[in-house]
Amino acid sequence: MTEAGGSVSATRRLLRRLRDIMAGSGTAQERLERIVRVVASEMVAEVCSAYILRAGEVLELFATEGLRPEAVHRTRLRVGEGLVGVIAATARPLALADAQSHPNFAYRPETGEEVYHSLMGAPILRGNRVLGVLVVQNRTLRHYSEDEIEVLQTIAMIVAELAASGNLVNPLEIAQSHGGVALPVRIVGVRLNAGLAIGPAVLHEPRVVIRQVVAEDVDAELGRLRGAVRAMREAIDELVEASREFGDGEHHDVIETYRMFAADRGWVTRIGDAIRSGLTAEAAVQKVADDTRTRMMQVSDPYLRERLFDLEDLANRLQQHLAGRPLSAAWAELPPEFILVARAMGPAELLDYARRRIMGLVLEEGSPTAHVAIVARAFDIPVVGRVGDATSRIEAGDIVVVDGDHANVLIRPSADIQQSIGAAVEARSRRRAYYETLLSVPAITRDGIAIKLMLNAGLLLDLSQLATTGAEGVGLFRTEFPLMVRDTFPNVEDFTEYYERVFDQAEQRPVFFRTLDIGGDKVLPYLPHAAEDNPAMGWRAIRIGLDRPAMLRQQLRALIRAARGRTLHLKFPMVAEVAELDRARALVDIELTRAAREGRELPKSVKIGVMLEVPSLLWQLPALCERIDFLSVGTNDLLQFLFACDRGNPRLADRYDALSAPMLALFREIIACSSDAGTSLSMCGDLAGNPLEAMVLIALGFRTLSMAATAIGPVKTMIRTLDTGAIAAYLDEIGSRPDHSLRPKLEAYARDHEIAL
Ligand code: PEP
Ligand code: MG
Repeated sequence: MTEAGGSVSATRRLLRRLRDIMAGSGTAQERLERIVRVVASEMVAEVCSAYILRAGEVLELFATEGLRPEAVHRTRLRVGEGLVGVIAATARPLALADAQSHPNFAYRPETGEEVYHSLMGAPILRGNRVLGVLVVQNRTLRHYSEDEIEVLQTIAMIVAELAASGNLVNPLEIAQSHGGVALPVRIVGVRLNAGLAIGPAVLHEPRVVIRQVVAEDVDAELGRLRGAVRAMREAIDELVEASREFGDGEHHDVIETYRMFAADRGWVTRIGDAIRSGLTAEAAVQKVADDTRTRMMQVSDPYLRERLFDLEDLANRLQQHLAGRPLSAAWAELPPEFILVARAMGPAELLDYARRRIMGLVLEEGSPTAHVAIVARAFDIPVVGRVGDATSRIEAGDIVVVDGDHANVLIRPSADIQQSIGAAVEARSRRRAYYETLLSVPAITRDGIAIKLMLNAGLLLDLSQLATTGAEGVGLFRTEFPLMVRDTFPNVEDFTEYYERVFDQAEQRPVFFRTLDIGGDKVLPYLPHAAEDNPAMGWRAIRIGLDRPAMLRQQLRALIRAARGRTLHLKFPMVAEVAELDRARALVDIELTRAAREGRELPKSVKIGVMLEVPSLLWQLPALCERIDFLSVGTNDLLQFLFACDRGNPRLADRYDALSAPMLALFREIIACSSDAGTSLSMCGDLAGNPLEAMVLIALGFRTLSMAATAIGPVKTMIRTLDTGAIAAYLDEIGSRPDHSLRPKLEAYARDHEIAL
């Protein structure tokens, strides 16, 4: 299409010719052959070939103009093999002026393609699946333009209709090659929300089947788009209002962000342009969604990639409005309780189901910071993400187990497993009911020692757990979480308002705010952050705060303003030396002076603390304790630095045990120093939330433990059966043995002494 370039009229002419072929007579194979002929001539290419996916991840040459006819149905490439295979594997278009020098070029003598230098190919996509690859080739070294790539992608959409019709390859062939459909399967994913659930699967499949790709009347299609966009925006406004019903919190902010996306003019303009090139409104929405997906999948930043799902959610919604009817399963007849299975989901889509009984959620994509995961947490739905091929391996109605605790999904479990999971789910809810009865029962050991149990929180939504668990306060408020679900760094007013809500929701209970622990794996999209070899030991937490004091000061300013007349507990993460604390504290003083100068009501008092996460602090404890009001031990990091063992590496998860001599000796040291100095001490690492570990911590001398809401009931139950004096004596006896782990001995002790673990 050199002479016409990507001009709108040439594209429209080509699309009309293809539409006529699609509507004309002949078998699917014959129509495919006509299509490649037309494309080769209209795009001024010597070759146009269509490869279609067959069972076993094989791409077979189905039709060609230009390559040797005898290669048809003979030339086959595996997905990933050759340039065609690369296009299928990446689901992205490729354009190369000199294709033969590409390392993936695979020469097939039967095709005679050695004379063609340039190659441009596009995946044939349906929904999110690659059904084949469409390729053009030229003899000369030709540089294909962006417009030409776009046109080829549009043509590939039309070929997708043929490929999906089931008339080229029997659809069963592909389905069967996905592995015995009826067999039980366990798939390991990523934990997005803890919990256990079992139920029949409902597939969330809002994608439309586009029946007509080429527009009959471009103006009419533009009119349909305008109407649908208007209707969609109104519906989203209603959704925003409706989401207030579920209380204020991040899920509400999330929906607001989503509303912003919906109002994005660029997106609608791109869809309009695609219609003007000759597509129907539905096909244009699909095309823009595919383009965006292709672009965004190259972005390595997980946060930005998550935003893609919001955009896809929006595209699906627009399709619904174009179709004039809801397409999501959310409006269908559904079983009373079910497991929802989706490729990816936006937060609003999940809210569509809010009035139903979703027991669990399975996603093919998603990360813990995904908006949908945050909304799911608000509704206490167990979620497992990154479950490969979930939507193709799970059939509607299959029994599915979502084990959020162990990050796996069990599809079609056998009857005995169903029974035992059902029993486990029931036992869980019985245990929950029991823990609720402990709500106002004090956490006191059998020998009368009171233990303060606090909550680890990171979102406003978590604060409601103060009332449901009976926690005495928030021992760790991770302030970076709310920032990770936003698109911009908040200003001081936003920050202040947010912290005021935290204070208000905590009522009179203390909240220990930890200043931003960003960096490492917690990347904010709006804070440039270079890739690091060892991000956990890199530029993170207080290091960023001290190097970018303006940012830390904004946060401190907001916390001071929000505290107004209340006690402000502040702690700094990842402090490695006393000098860092001194510098951080100086910033607090500057902000206090500023607040006083501005005539603001100051906090009643400001208590300063440090997270003990870096072992170097152990040799500065006396100087440290002199300067602070409290010390919080963060074992998640401390353990990884003590044993040089990455906390995020699943292969190393059980490699070393905190219940062993080095860690116990270290705890003893911390307890002795803080007690000498009269500095209050707490533990807020995940260790504190396990009953066995909590038993040891209490035996050593910890009296304040902060943990996730779900851990409070089990830990309190353990405490009420514990004799501290007896276990302390036992630990004195075995604590310094050089065993890999003291766990078996401690478990046996607990069993023998009827300590409820
Ligand atoms: C810790 O390191 O133990 C801790 C509580 O902090 P985080 O898990 O947020 O790194
Ligand atoms: Mg930490």
